[in-house]
Amino acid sequence: MTMHKKKLVAGNWKMNGTLAANEALVKALVGGLDSPACDVAVCVPAPYLSQVQSLAKDSAIALGAQDVSAHASGAFTGEQSAGMLQEFGVRYAIVGHSERRQYHGESDEAVSAKAAMALRHGITPIVCVGETLQQREAGQTDEVVKRQLAAVIHDNGHCISEIVVAYEPVWAIGTGKTATPEQAQAVHHLLRAQLHHAAGDHAAGIRILYGGSMNAANAAQLLAQPDIDGGLIGGASLKAPDFLQIIAAANQAMSAPRA
Ligand code: PEP
Repeated sequence: MTMHKKKLVAGNWKMNGTLAANEALVKALVGGLDSPACDVAVCVPAPYLSQVQSLAKDSAIALGAQDVSAHASGAFTGEQSAGMLQEFGVRYAIVGHSERRQYHGESDEAVSAKAAMALRHGITPIVCVGETLQQREAGQTDEVVKRQLAAVIHDNGHCISEIVVAYEPVWAIGTGKTATPEQAQAVHHLLRAQLHHAAGDHAAGIRILYGGSMNAANAAQLLAQPDIDGGLIGGASLKAPDFLQIIAAANQAMSAPRA
């Protein structure tokens, strides 16, 4: 029997929310969470960091950002530095989400520089990797995710055990199409091996989340896979009952016997 890693369930609100909706959502989450076994985070739009920081104060919910600048300060209009995020108690920052790679042209190198900046400020980067449908159909999934992760390992090798990885097949994000547990497990296993090759035993504690239309109905099966250490949840993280059910599934998966 091996030890269960502490799973992480992180919500990605994307560009959604209002002061009123956030208050209702976070209050419902805080009210519905009694000391979860897994870690829980919500990655919120930057203008709401302060609001959610106070709403989630003294709760099990950690605060996350959806991006972080690769630069420390200066003439980078529209960006937020890791130092600024740190001032608001941010614990996690998503980097390299496919929407940033796609709409903002973020390269593997840029994503890696963002991860480095987060790490330097004690913020855990949630590094997203994942293939498009076209890449999957062309048999390029392994090559794509390995290339994306390799860039981050290359620049952050010395503290790679501090990162979280999220495997998010682009074709499954916001589409209602989920990778099967077997498809996801196969890629997670590959990423695990890559991390192990880079960092040896230090890699054992790195959490690899699955993201892509994870919801209350499919979470348990995905989270039961040996190399799926949690979820990055978009749409379903905006509905308190659904997000709470996914957290319950993660708690349950951690207490299940493991061969
Ligand atoms: C995401 O935005 O990271 C995500 C996984 O979205 P969804 O759960 O809506 O597919």
